[in-house]
Amino acid sequence: MTKYDVSLITGDGIGPELAAAAKKILEKINDNSSTKFSISELEAGDAALKKHGRALPESTVDAVKKSQACLKAPVGESAADVIIVLRRMFDLYANVRPAKSYPNIPSLSSNVDLVTVRENTEDLYLGWEFNADEDTVVALRVTSKKASQRIAEYAFRTAEMRNGKRRVVAVHKANVMRKGDGLFASVCRQVAKRYPKIQYSELYVDAASMNLIRNPDEFDVIVTTNLFGDILSDEAAQVVGGLGMGPAANIGKGFALFEPVHGAAFDIAGKNVANPSSILLSAKMMAEWLADKNGDAKVAAEGKRIEDGIVKLLAKNQKTKDIGGRLTTTEFAELVARSMY
Ligand code: ATP
Repeated sequence: MTKYDVSLITGDGIGPELAAAAKKILEKINDNSSTKFSISELEAGDAALKKHGRALPESTVDAVKKSQACLKAPVGESAADVIIVLRRMFDLYANVRPAKSYPNIPSLSSNVDLVTVRENTEDLYLGWEFNADEDTVVALRVTSKKASQRIAEYAFRTAEMRNGKRRVVAVHKANVMRKGDGLFASVCRQVAKRYPKIQYSELYVDAASMNLIRNPDEFDVIVTTNLFGDILSDEAAQVVGGLGMGPAANIGKGFALFEPVHGAAFDIAGKNVANPSSILLSAKMMAEWLADKNGDAKVAAEGKRIEDGIVKLLAKNQKTKDIGGRLTTTEFAELVARSMY
């Protein structure tokens, strides 16, 4: 038996409904395999702010620190006070967002299988904005060799490990931001030399966003800076049928946090209609990461059952409302759980 302590942030909006779905699936694994997840449910976000005066209470931080990985449901208005703080606290430098075509989901192509590897620690996200004068704001866009190097390394390692097309494309705008993106591009080129079996290319971000619509099948691993990665990964999610199917990982050296790409979706909160696939596929990514970190192929196999369970349902056209079906959140999660073993 192998036990993993995981923290589960329940979040706001549709967060608690998604967290409940994830818990159900992890408990299903507990009941049917030698992999056991010990789950600590934690508060963070708008509701926590109201109740405790802090969006990220200390008790939550302590519990996350004690866990081996964190699964996080979306958080509302206070999202930045939760996720950006956690990303910095654990130096979660790589934001990894797969986008994949699944059966019976409206998609621009049925063969999309790509992953965006987004630098997660610098760029405009440092929030260094200043008033130059009353009417002018200056924002600093930070790019370092160290951050570029480790994200490029992560992208090439990802390409090596995937059953994909073994391609990495670096996306930037070095023709305009000659110094910042120039540095990012040159570091990517250097790292590419150490991975001769991976085909390397570069695209300007405008061309990349166009090609993602025109030829989404061509992409395998996209490595890019923080803001471009934010935008391109949402675009990629839409190419394969929307945010409800989009998982993400925030990876650091010794810790990682997994979360849906979408926000708290208050418009559908409490209605039991949200698509839980995003958090369930995030749980699958968590299992893969735990497997890699601990050399435990079994936990990866349990994670794969989650995706296989989702695929089985979709193949039978059993879907939630956002992707053209009628199942509720709880029905969908229950059916995934049933089809896993
Ligand atoms: P944020 O600014 O934090 O990204 P937002 O409210 O602008 O949040 P999202 O919450 O990410 O945007 O989602 C946009 C819309 O997509 C929602 O209003 C909702 O209708 C839909 N949506 C997002 N996630 C899901 C989901 N899991 N299931 C079904 N629909 C979803």
